[in-house]
Amino acid sequence: MPKGMFVDTSICTGCKACQVACKEWNGLPHEPSHFIQDPIEMRPVAINFTGDSYDNTGALSATDWRRVRFIEQFSADRSRGRWLFSSDSCKHCNDAGCLNACPTGAIERTDLGNVFIRQDVCIGCKYCVPSCPFGVVSVSEATGTARKCTLCNDRIHHGMGTACAKACPTGSIAFGEMSDLRVRADKRLAQLVALGRTDANIYGYNEAGGLNVFYLFLDRPAVYGQPEKIVVPQKRLPASSAATVAGALVLGAVAIAAFRERGKAEEEGEVKS
Ligand code: SF4
Ligand code: SF4
Repeated sequence: MPKGMFVDTSICTGCKACQVACKEWNGLPHEPSHFIQDPIEMRPVAINFTGDSYDNTGALSATDWRRVRFIEQFSADRSRGRWLFSSDSCKHCNDAGCLNACPTGAIERTDLGNVFIRQDVCIGCKYCVPSCPFGVVSVSEATGTARKCTLCNDRIHHGMGTACAKACPTGSIAFGEMSDLRVRADKRLAQLVALGRTDANIYGYNEAGGLNVFYLFLDRPAVYGQPEKIVVPQKRLPASSAATVAGALVLGAVAIAAFRERGKAEEEGEVKS
C-alpha cells in the first residue's frame, strides 16, 4: 500500500514547525550563519538572507529537505493583501526523473512508494539533479552524495508517520495511505469550492505519474512556484544503447570489409607468386 502526504495549504499558518522537525529528526546541519563580522567596522553584517519575506531557506537543498514558502500578494497601496503558505519537499513522484536518471541504481523506490537515495551507492555524479522537474535534489558538499527528503524512510518502515506531519500543529500535513489521503483531499476541495474558493485545486494527481506528496492550493500551482507543464526525463539507456549498437555494427561492417579485402589481396598475391 503506497503511503504519502497530503499538504493542505489552506490551513498552513507558516509556523515552520515542519521545517524544524525535519532538521531535527534527520540530523541536518544548520545553514551558514546569516551574519559575518565586518573586519573594518567591527560589527556584524547580514549576509545570505533571502530578502523574500519570512522564507528563510529560499530553496530546497541537501541540508534543507523542507521549505515553507511564503507568497505575499499585496495591492500597490498595501491596503489589501494575502499571504499564502506552502510547505514544500520532495514529491516522491510515481514517475521520478531522479530515479530514471541515476546510473548506479542508488535511487530506489521502497515497498511504501517513497523514493530513497542509498548513500552507500551514490557516486555524486549529479545526473539526478537536473532530472528532477521540481528542483528538489542536490549533492551535499559535505558528503559528496545526493540528498533529499526520504519521506522519513526510517520512521515509516517502523509504523510511524513523518516527522513534519507529526509536528504540524494545524494538520496541514497529513501522512497516511494514498487512497485515504485522496478521499480527504477531495472532501476538503469540495468544501472550499462550496465556500466560494473556486480557484482551489489539487496538485499532484496527474503530474509526474502522480505525486505521493500532493497539495491543495488556493491559486494556480505556478503562484506557489510549482511547474504546471512537467516533462519527466526518462532513462537515457535506450538512446545511448541504440547509439552503441549502431556504432558497433558500423565498426563490425568496416572490420569485415577490411578482412575480406585483405583475404582477396593475399589470394591474388598467392596466384601471382
Ligand atoms: S520530486 Fe524530484 S527528487 Fe523527489 S522523487 Fe520526484 S524527481 Fe525525485
Ligand atoms: S548523484 Fe548519486 S543519486 Fe544522483 S544520479 Fe548520481 S549516483 Fe545517482
